Amino acid sequence: MTESEKLGLYIHIPFCRSRCAYCGFYSIEQVPSQKFIDALIREIQRKSKFFSHRSCDTVYFGGGTPSVLTVTQLNQIMSVLKSYFDILSDAEVTMEMNPCDMNYDYAAGVKALGINRVSIGVQSKENMLLKQIGRQHSAFDAKKAIKNAVKAGFTNISIDLMCELPGQTVEDFQNTLYWAVHLPITHMSVYSLIIEEGTRFHYLDQKGILARPTEGESWHMYQDMCKILPHYGMERYEISSFARKGYKSKHNTKYWVLDDYLGLGPAACSRIGRERRENLPGVKLYEKALLSDEAIPEKIEKLSEKEEMEEFCFLGLRQTVGISKGAFKKRYGKDIHVVYERVIKKLIQENFLKETDTHIYLTYQGMAHGNYAFEQFLLSV
Ligand code: SF4
Repeated sequence: MTESEKLGLYIHIPFCRSRCAYCGFYSIEQVPSQKFIDALIREIQRKSKFFSHRSCDTVYFGGGTPSVLTVTQLNQIMSVLKSYFDILSDAEVTMEMNPCDMNYDYAAGVKALGINRVSIGVQSKENMLLKQIGRQHSAFDAKKAIKNAVKAGFTNISIDLMCELPGQTVEDFQNTLYWAVHLPITHMSVYSLIIEEGTRFHYLDQKGILARPTEGESWHMYQDMCKILPHYGMERYEISSFARKGYKSKHNTKYWVLDDYLGLGPAACSRIGRERRENLPGVKLYEKALLSDEAIPEKIEKLSEKEEMEEFCFLGLRQTVGISKGAFKKRYGKDIHVVYERVIKKLIQENFLKETDTHIYLTYQGMAHGNYAFEQFLLSV
């Protein structure tokens, strides 16, 4: 079985202890009930039938906040996953964690179940900012959570950070970066704030009272991120992702190279070949459908070759390695230049793109203006 034939599993746990001011993901402020666990188990059993011929090399618990699950609940889910899917012994098994949940006992309990990578939502070192964005933890809690993860035996620890937050100065972000690179972590994802509709920040932004960094400050933050992280051994491998050598996220890479993954849980998305499916949000709806043996309400979208090609290029360019010309040819039976000659030439001239014998990738400048470059690929097919 080739790498791309292996399946990724994504389990969406749509519960949070409280809502953050910026978050547009589907989640509710509750803890998961046994009814939810039973429904999730049913979905795992039901869908596994279609994948009995495939091995899984990644499992990812995302949310929401998967660490609202008790170790007992997680054990139930993991046991069923292991019985119904062929999860490889060296699979990357990640769980997103809220720093507040990561005491030593919890970390050790989770580790004992086969989770071998944690992704901790740290966001910032500045307590004022954390409070402002609605996070419940402090920088001290985050550091303690990482310490507990290490003590429990985790050797693959990722953290999330945020920039361009309201009230965040260039110096705040620099301090966070310098602080973070000295933590015992292997991976970092750095996200710029995006104002999502329906969030508290969107409401404040609409009212014109959200003090966002200026363009100049944002540019400074971007440059600091690109300079400081690699200097401390965190190499950028995707537009928002940095890793120490050998610690790129295998699961996230599946998204960027269009490998198949199966999503389980309310609002979870799957990609199998050209088909994208999304379970509709709604915990009650989800539980009712599964526990009464009905179909799960879902949205199904079949991509045309053209749409998939655009996505292949757009996601390929998000990675520093860029688009593999060989992979493009293998997938679509034609040279990438046949389809994108004009765009490639234009972006190379503008110093946004570079080309080698095997790859086409964004330059430093291109990465900074990623959306512009992506659009060229989307509009030109
Ligand atoms: S950012 Fe994370 S913890 Fe906050 S509301 Fe969204 S999913 Fe929940």
